[in-house]
Amino acid sequence: MSVENVLSLIKEKNIEWVDFRFTDIGGISHHISVPAVEVDADTFVNGVAFDGSSIHGFKGIEESDMVMIPDTETIYEDAFTAHPTLIVYCNIYTPGGDRYDRDPRSIAERAEEYLQTTGIGTAAYFAPESEFFIFDNVQFENSMNKSSFEVDSEEAVWNTGRKEEGGNLGFKIGVKGGYFPVAPVDTQQDIRSEMCRLMMEAGLRIERHHHEVATAGQGEINFRFDTLTKTADNLMKYKYIIQNVARQYGKVATFMPKPLFGDNGSGMHVHQSIFNGDSPLFYEKGAYANLSEMAIHYVGGILHHAPALIAITNPSTNSFKRLVPGYEAPVNLVFAKGNRSAAVRIPIAAVTPKGCRIEFRTPDSTANPYLAFAAMLMAGLDGIKNKIDPRALGYGPFDKNIYELSDEEKAGIRSVPGTLDEALDALEADHEFLLQGEVFSQDFIDNYINLKRADAKAVAIRIHPYEYELYFNL
Ligand code: GLN
Ligand code: MG
Ligand code: MG
Ligand code: MG
Repeated sequence: MSVENVLSLIKEKNIEWVDFRFTDIGGISHHISVPAVEVDADTFVNGVAFDGSSIHGFKGIEESDMVMIPDTETIYEDAFTAHPTLIVYCNIYTPGGDRYDRDPRSIAERAEEYLQTTGIGTAAYFAPESEFFIFDNVQFENSMNKSSFEVDSEEAVWNTGRKEEGGNLGFKIGVKGGYFPVAPVDTQQDIRSEMCRLMMEAGLRIERHHHEVATAGQGEINFRFDTLTKTADNLMKYKYIIQNVARQYGKVATFMPKPLFGDNGSGMHVHQSIFNGDSPLFYEKGAYANLSEMAIHYVGGILHHAPALIAITNPSTNSFKRLVPGYEAPVNLVFAKGNRSAAVRIPIAAVTPKGCRIEFRTPDSTANPYLAFAAMLMAGLDGIKNKIDPRALGYGPFDKNIYELSDEEKAGIRSVPGTLDEALDALEADHEFLLQGEVFSQDFIDNYINLKRADAKAVAIRIHPYEYELYFNL
């Protein structure tokens, strides 16, 4: 949308406020609101100043002045304010007029520019499947107070049975029983439809929504693929709308990867492909899963760099509580068609040449989408440039259930890192691929590792409730 169009939209819709937003390194969205009467064409050139020193992981206090300059392509109307408000996502600049190189959105844009300079293709497309839980407040408090955040088959009814007025009405979802019986088992049809309605108003193209596998109100909404930075912007809209619709319903939505022990967690599978203009470059009819050699090498790059990549796509201590066997979250660094126990799956049902893509299933929504999509693209491009062949390196294809392979077949299969610290060790050792084309800077990587190590340490030094179970009586 041009600046002129934004200004006339403000008039037409009697907009009172323009909300300038950016996403910090950890993935939190921040905002400053400016009265619409004070917004003119200059605002879009000069931007809005803010104090970068208060943003976790940004500049030190001695150089704290930063500027947010809006990208008018991202404008949408806020559905949650009493006063008509336009939201616009911004790029961060230093007072000297340079892009700020710790701004995740600038990294996403640089990754797209880098793709073009390689000559490999003109655009990379991304589509995340970001799962979430909607908890009742009561239930959420119950789970916070439980000694081990545990759910078992008896406990599986705590979301419904305990607080229903007038008695238990039945139709409960058991552990892993949420996929995907109709109402009255599914009690969240309307809330997900309302989320979708507002997403469509905000410009997302919704493909479908459904209840997910876990017992306690797990859901998923799918929106249409787009280019890298646009998809990251869309994911920020998606989370904002989900969290605020849940709040309107007196509920709470979370993207935390593993809020409940003993049931499925929430992942963010990411579908990816590269095009040259209109031509899909990942498709080759008749090849394995109709994948071109370029796509196979992209997969090679993802799997080869996966331990380091996971520090960016699964950047929380909780991420690694999801990546365990038995809950449809991948543990093995292999690829396969159809097979959901593999880290990279090649969807084969109802796939057209243009829809031909790879699905990396490891990520979760604690990832900053700008950084995660950029890092995945960089790993994949490194695979293409260096012709990293996943078949030659023992990464598959494995079309059997990996948990049923013989020991011999299983030997040599690499697993995902077991903890955030292990992933950070891998990133420390392997990040050259991210520095290509100056997409990520060494300063960014060092700073990022420090921030995340601090999280790991903060969790490690706290006493876990389950330690009482194990050690109190000794
Ligand atoms: N929730 C599973 C995960 O953690 C995925 C379930 C699914 O979409 N089939 O990745
Ligand atoms: Mg899905
Ligand atoms: Mg899913
Ligand atoms: Mg999937």
